[in-house]
This record gives sequence, C-alpha cells and structure tokens, in this order.
Amino acid sequence: LIEVRASGICGTDIHILRGEYMGDYPVIPGHEFAGNVVAVGARVTRFRPGDRVAVEPNLACDNCLNCLNNRQNFCEHWEAVGVTVPGGMAEYVAVPEKAVFDIGSLPFAHGAFVEPLSCVIHGIQKAAIHAGDRVLIVGAGPIGILLLQIARLQGATSVAVAERNPQRAAFAETMGAEEVAHDLDDLPRTAFDVVVDATGVNDVMSRTLDYVRRGGTLLLFGVPPRESRVDFDAFELFRKGVTLHTSFTSVRNSYQAVVLLQSRRVDVSDLVSHQLALASFARGVDILETGAEDVRKVQILPQT
Ligand SMILES: [Zn+2]
Ligand SMILES: [Zn+2]
Repeated sequence: LIEVRASGICGTDIHILRGEYMGDYPVIPGHEFAGNVVAVGARVTRFRPGDRVAVEPNLACDNCLNCLNNRQNFCEHWEAVGVTVPGGMAEYVAVPEKAVFDIGSLPFAHGAFVEPLSCVIHGIQKAAIHAGDRVLIVGAGPIGILLLQIARLQGATSVAVAERNPQRAAFAETMGAEEVAHDLDDLPRTAFDVVVDATGVNDVMSRTLDYVRRGGTLLLFGVPPRESRVDFDAFELFRKGVTLHTSFTSVRNSYQAVVLLQSRRVDVSDLVSHQLALASFARGVDILETGAEDVRKVQILPQT
C-alpha cells in the first residue's frame, strides 16, 4: 500500500478520459507516480513501511506465451495501474510487489518520471540509436525532452527538435538540442538517421517519413487517438528502405530509469511546471489540453 506523493498527468490520461485508449470506466487514473510504502502484505519480502518507491504500472501475468518469451508488454492478460486497475491519482493505492521499485533518496517529483522514462528507454532501444547518429525528435513535451536526453546518452552527435510552442522549443535548446525548428518545413529532408515522433498527432506523424535518410529508422512513439490513420507515401517508404518501429510501454526498464534519474544522467528537475492538489486534477487536465501556459509536466500531489 503506497501513500502517493507525486503523480504525473500524462497525455495517455487524456486519451483514457476521452475513451480513446484501453481500459474501461470506472478507473482511477495515474500511472506515473512515486510515494511511501505504508503497509505490506504477508508475502512481501523486498519492502517495508517507510520505503520510498516508484511504480511500474504494467502488470504482466508472467505465464502466457508472450510473457514466457520476454514480451511482457504484450501479455495476453495485461493490466496496468491507472489504466485498467486503480491508479495513483489517489491518496493511497495498492499495487503488487513486483511492480514496485526502490528510489532511495530520489525526490518523489523525480520518481514520478520512472514510468515515462522507462517507456522512453524501451523506445530508444528499439530505434537502436548509435554513436554519431543525427536524430530528429518531433515534439518537445516532457516525453520529447526525455527522448532527447536518452538519444544523447546513446551517442547521438546531433539532435534536432521540431516544436511549435516557443517556450517548449526554448527549453529543448537549454536541454541540449543542437537545432530547434519551429516548423518541420525548416528542416532538411532525408537527412536524419533516426526520426522520432513524440506528438501522436496523425498529421505530424504522416510527415515524419520525409525526414528519415535512406536506410534510416523511424520510431512512432507518441500515442495517437484510437481508430485514426497515418498517411505515408508507400513508395517512399519502400524506396527509402526505412525501418519503422513503434513502442508500446516498456519491458522491465524501470530499474534503468531509476538509476539514470538517481545519477542525474537524466535530469528532470526543470520538467515539472505545475504541482496541484488532488482536487485540482480536472484543472491539471485543462492546463495540458489548452497548453496556454508554459506547461511541461503537471503533477498531482495528493498529500497536499
Ligand atoms: Zn504516461
Ligand atoms: Zn502474460
């Protein structure tokens, strides 16, 4: 049983709210959170009350064909905290021991990034960014900024970011982007070894192929709405010999996320723009949807 101390609102939560994602109502959202252990079941061995922890929301059965082949993200009995079972937008939440990771002295606000960072690590592993690569990241929301940092850690020598929001674009520059474009049109086509979409906006996703070099890699990372379409030039996809990846959640990448945050190799200290009380959850969603303010990550602090 975890007393939730920081719980991030994610674009996926907005999809869940609109019925565009998996899971059914009623559900308590919140799949990016950290807090204190306050009670443990009789068979729990790794934790005791007082431990500071983050949660990996994906719950795999460990017993189906996909789980037995280390594809736990495609578990045939997949459940997720905050998606199909009650999540961290609450004062307390009970989760299985295997979903819990010790964060030591990491601030709770940083611990709430363990989940999004683990998804980013999984995506970048799939895209296989190599030393010397030129990378383009489309979208500089919190996920785009995490992708930028992991791409640099993998050895990318230049990371360009495309972002329309001027504040987000400026922030990407301070976080190490070599080039920031306000419009995809300002970037060279067929120029990048790896292009990553972090918007999930169909029209934007449809344009990403233009920017991948021949033989390069395209990673569609952002979550698009359900039953929507991406429109690629099929001949261009063929002629370029592009490797196309998608990335669904993560496969046990939370430990890596914890140590990257603890070591500050990934820095999330400036990624949180708003911290609100639990009663202000709807306002938090509103802030994200309108994007009017200099919004980065909005977190709910249920104990305030
Ligand atoms: Zn999320
Ligand atoms: Zn399974």
